[in-house]
Amino acid sequence: MTLSKRDNAEYVIFVLCIMLALAVTPFAVMRILDSDWVMAALDTSIILSMGVLVGYVYKTGHHQLASILVASVFVGATIVTTHLQGISQLPWAYPAFTVTFYLLSPMRALAATIAALLAIVPIITSEGAFIEHIKIIFSLAINIIAAFSFAKLTQKHRKELNQLMKIDPLTLTGNRRAMDMDVSRLLEEHNKYGTALTAFMIDIDHFKTVNDTYGHLFGDGVIAQTAKVIATHMRDNERLYRYGGEEFLVVARNINEEDASILAERLRKHVEVAPFERDIHLTISLGVAHLGAQEDVDDWLKRADKALYQAKDQGRNCVVLAPATEATASAAAAPQ
Ligand code: GH3
Ligand code: MG
Ligand code: MG
Repeated sequence: MTLSKRDNAEYVIFVLCIMLALAVTPFAVMRILDSDWVMAALDTSIILSMGVLVGYVYKTGHHQLASILVASVFVGATIVTTHLQGISQLPWAYPAFTVTFYLLSPMRALAATIAALLAIVPIITSEGAFIEHIKIIFSLAINIIAAFSFAKLTQKHRKELNQLMKIDPLTLTGNRRAMDMDVSRLLEEHNKYGTALTAFMIDIDHFKTVNDTYGHLFGDGVIAQTAKVIATHMRDNERLYRYGGEEFLVVARNINEEDASILAERLRKHVEVAPFERDIHLTISLGVAHLGAQEDVDDWLKRADKALYQAKDQGRNCVVLAPATEATASAAAAPQ
């Protein structure tokens, strides 16, 4: 795997593992020099396990398990060293609790850090004045609450950004990025389980006339309304994307030729009778293509596009089914 293709979570693991190993190394050396063998063994095992995790994630790209392990090392080391060395180890608890929220989901990190705090409370309260105990416990609790709030907010923003990244702002349908992502996922499903996929390439007829007559802004509204009409008459296993200016793509899973024709006709008719603003009448043309076995996405969509242009040639406001590829035809002809 090249560095540029790595997930951000992998970089977080690399940085945290290397940081932790570098931070622990001087202590491991000091403890060896002091013949403090228990702590020396603990520090050395932390350094070695960080090296193994970096190697594992670098080689495999699997960061979920590694994130849990690194978080366990941070939290576990805080508990163990505090029990072995007393409250002098507590300054490490603050960064350890904070990075746990970098590595785990907010709820998991919250559970892990609260458990760790409860595990070290007996040590915190074992020496010093009561007011000192309260101060340490409260500051650690505030650290946890602040990290949790920030992690929750970041999670929410990430979700919103992911949504925005995939939505066409005019029609609120999927954009080209969403289409590329979904289609490559569906293609994997098709290759693995033989899921049937059908593309419906849709283009509004004589749309230039709408723009020329009523203006571009009005045209925008018509494109949005057309998308709404199409989306309203689709089912759960069908997805709508804005493919280009006034062109749309519907991708349907697991429908046969007959159902594909019925769906295409249904969409065509609903647009034909839809009441558009200023009483204009609009029609669409559709090209439909089933994905052939071994066919790549470009060829599949090109066939749907070709069928769409045939629909335009046939006078518009109609549906043309692309002829099956050889592979599709032989699969359909094979005895069940
Ligand atoms: P046809 O029946 O052959 O499809 O005729 P058409 O006039 O619809 O031609 P075509 O599909 O080639 O052209 C579409 C026009 O749509 C061209 C462009 O000015 C307009 N268009 C493309 N994107 C937008 C957009 O986002 N908003 C508006 N208002 N118009 C757009
Ligand atoms: Mg058009
Ligand atoms: Mg067009």
